[in-house]
Order: sequence, then structure tokens, then C-alpha cells
Amino acid sequence: MDTNLGLSPVDRSLRKFLFLLVEDRISRGDGDEILAKWRNHKDVPALRSLGYIEGPNRLTDRAFSAFFQTFERIECPDEIQKCTTEYGITGVQWRRAKGVFRQNIRRAHGHGVSYPTHKVVFIKDGADLPTWYHELGHIIFQSIKHDRERIERLALSAKELALSSNKIWDSPGIAEGSYILIDGRYLGLDHSGSDAVEDEIWAVLFERYHCGTPPSNLLPIVREIIASVTPPKPIS
Ligand SMILES: [Zn+2]
Repeated sequence: MDTNLGLSPVDRSLRKFLFLLVEDRISRGDGDEILAKWRNHKDVPALRSLGYIEGPNRLTDRAFSAFFQTFERIECPDEIQKCTTEYGITGVQWRRAKGVFRQNIRRAHGHGVSYPTHKVVFIKDGADLPTWYHELGHIIFQSIKHDRERIERLALSAKELALSSNKIWDSPGIAEGSYILIDGRYLGLDHSGSDAVEDEIWAVLFERYHCGTPPSNLLPIVREIIASVTPPKPIS
């Protein structure tokens, strides 16, 4: 593990500043730009030369990875391990959600938050199995998102079932947004931002496929997508 961040000897104050930038960025939601007030900080040139900042003000993947690595690794449940193997997914890092990730989770729904391009998932202590499946769904989405025909078909059919929070009367205090009612629960479709709706639809249905019952008009498409990314099972 690159705990020294390529800093040799470790420059603790540089590391601290880098993590402050990354944590602040994550707390503000998606994106990689640092705040304007940090741009001319004395440590920015050093972070840039080490590959943690690029362009005028962007944190690199390397910066995010370095920060992610400071969070404790946790074991995923056996069911999830079995499932990742079935889907041929390797290298997922499950980490304990603390600090800024815990706060982000509280703001959104569920008990996990994932960074699929990094294959990193943060899970809150005590999260239930559906949370793990939901976040694994976000990781798997990276392998299926280019299958535009199937994804668009899935999204279109799912949106036909979507309900806006202002039409939901039987769940007082529900956060504003779009939901799909499955197995008696309203599952949010846009809590990761409106660009991420397809991703969210997939994660919701992937979780229900493994832990419940996807709506009957969506089940065949979910099965089709799953078959497209899993090796055929031997006939027994
Ligand atoms: Zn999600």
C-alpha cells in the first residue's frame, strides 16, 4: 500500500493538506475541483509535481486513492464475495465508512457509498445485506453501462414506474426526488444526482434481484443484462 504517497521522507504537513483538499471536495459532492481559496496555497506546486493536482485546480484519481487508502478495509459478507466472483469482478475494496463518507451517507439514502471507477465502497457498520448488493450493483454498472440498448430499455421501463416524492402520500418526510416502489419500499432513483439515474436504477434493481422481487416488467431486462455479464452456468 502506498501509505507514503510517494513522499519520501513523508512530509506530514503536505499529506495533511492533500487530505484536507480531498475531504473538502468529497463533502461538497461529486467533482474534483478544489476551492478557489486553496489554489494559491504554498503546497499546491508540490502536490502538483507529485501528481495529486492537475490542470488549474483538479484533484487527480491518485489524490482520491491516497485518501481512500486511509480508511480501514473490511471483509464483505460471504454472499457478496460469492456474487463478485460470479460476475467476474475482482479488486473491489470494501472500507469502513467514517468521517466524510458517513456524513455523505446520512445525507443520501442507504448505508453505503461507492466510487466505482476506483472500485472502492464505503459501508457503514451494521449495514444490511441489501446495502452491500446495492453498492456492488454500482460497481457492476461500470461493466454494463456501455450496453446502451439494454440500459436505455431498462431505464425507460423503470421510469414508467417512477413516482415523484410529491405524489407519495404514504411515506411522510420522504426526501424530494424520484422513487420506484418495490416490495413495499420506496427506493430512490436520483439521490446520486440526475446524471446518475441509470446507474441508480440498475443498483436498485440489482439489489432487488438478489434480495427481493424486481417488478415483473423489469425482470426480463435485468436477467438479460445479468446474463450478458456473467459466464453461463454449467448445466447440472
Ligand atoms: Zn445508489
